[in-house]
Amino acid sequence: MSLQSINPTTGEVIETFEETSPHELERVREGAHRAFLEWRSVAFATRGQMMRRAAAILKARKADHARAMTLEMGKPIGQAEAEVEKCALTCEYYAEHAEAFLAEQPRETEAARSYVRFDPLGPVLAVMPWNFPFWQVFRFAAPALMAGNVAVLKHASNVSRCALRIEEVFRDAGFPRGVFSAVLIGSPSVGKLVADRRIVAVTLTGSDRAGSSIAEGAGRELKKTVLELGGSDPFIVLGDADIHAAAGTAADARLINSGQSCIAAKRFIVVEAVADAFLERFLEELRSRRMGDPLDPQTQVGPQARVDLRDSLHHQVLESIERGAQRLLGGEMPAGRGAFYPPTLLAAVDKGMPAFDEETFGPVAAVIRAKDEADAVRLANDSVFGLGASVWTQDRARAERVAAQIEAGCVFVNGMVKSDPRLPFGGIKRSGYGRELSEYGLREFVNIKSVWIV
Ligand code: NAP
Repeated sequence: MSLQSINPTTGEVIETFEETSPHELERVREGAHRAFLEWRSVAFATRGQMMRRAAAILKARKADHARAMTLEMGKPIGQAEAEVEKCALTCEYYAEHAEAFLAEQPRETEAARSYVRFDPLGPVLAVMPWNFPFWQVFRFAAPALMAGNVAVLKHASNVSRCALRIEEVFRDAGFPRGVFSAVLIGSPSVGKLVADRRIVAVTLTGSDRAGSSIAEGAGRELKKTVLELGGSDPFIVLGDADIHAAAGTAADARLINSGQSCIAAKRFIVVEAVADAFLERFLEELRSRRMGDPLDPQTQVGPQARVDLRDSLHHQVLESIERGAQRLLGGEMPAGRGAFYPPTLLAAVDKGMPAFDEETFGPVAAVIRAKDEADAVRLANDSVFGLGASVWTQDRARAERVAAQIEAGCVFVNGMVKSDPRLPFGGIKRSGYGRELSEYGLREFVNIKSVWIV
């Protein structure tokens, strides 16, 4: 089987890759295993030097990497550049902090000395999505490698060029052979890797369907998993919110990455008292965003990453309309080439419609009216997902009360949900489990070992 990179702006095939052969896959697994035996005892300072070099390489080749992402999956070029910078920042963050985060922790007990230490586990398989082709990989790899693990990357089949570029960054930064390897395989071949005794743990960022499948295979082998899955994040606008600011951020939060972000706001839950005012402003904001060639720096919304994904998004929109949603903007398939889909606004959305019940992975905003604050919280939590949430109110006490009741991995008040290396990131319910980033992410793939000395 071969893997194809197709430019979603034009529909043209950019490059076709042969899948990594079984022989080469065996070489990668054995290489990762052997590399780990050395890498686990390399000093933090040495690992940190290499990680800082990786950051420097990312920055030096920012324009090239960004262009590669935009060509393979259609991300607007300015956002692609920002993504490369964030990867560099995260490499520097872990180069700086990993040693302190993983320092031995003394414990007061009856022992002469007792403490907790954090040992690396071994080769971790990373199954990654196409939507942030660099960021998703670096936010796993920077902490994992700093902790002394090694990584085998299976990237999404449509971004093989990005996968190979990332491998090159680590190689050029001086990481020993086998510490970070990319394999080019389709999802049907992942099970064998998960089952291999030399792979000790698996992390997957992707859909809940892929997450279940990985968790099933890893569970059979009793291997640790971290799953970063989909979301249907609520964006709650309460009666005392600054409507102007909320509507502007709402459009940004829905359209970032052309709507293809796990933490993009998807369900806009607005209390009745301000619903009309918000809707009017939100519509204006969405209408003003420019869709077009993602290589043009003025473009705010690029194509969707693949035609099949765009088509299933459209199907979700049509089904929601059939079940009573009101189309206020977009919702029509554009003519012409490429995987474009326009910013779309659906009002009167309710439970029982795909726009409420499912993740809409594209520029489709669903507006839902709530009676009051309590009803808004109820609607926000009435989801199989629990990744992020945004709450808009000018009352700090109210904000904290609502934040405490929301079922999600993070809540941002009067701002857009985002990931930050200083804060743990992850979800609950069908959005997955485990955490990335911060010291919590660093400690996911370590053996938390108690030592007791009498
Ligand atoms: P996807 O179809 O689930 O694919 C993600 C990765 O999993 C790809 O490498 C894919 O390989 C692989 N995969 C798919 N099915 C698999 C299976 N049955 N067994 C093993 N591997 C499998 O997701 P996507 O369309 O690339 O990405 C979009 C999804 O990712 C959305 O649901 C989004 O919310 C989620 N996401 C979550 C986060 C988070 O942090 N929570 C961040 C970003 C994205 P192939 O490409 O070869 O199929």
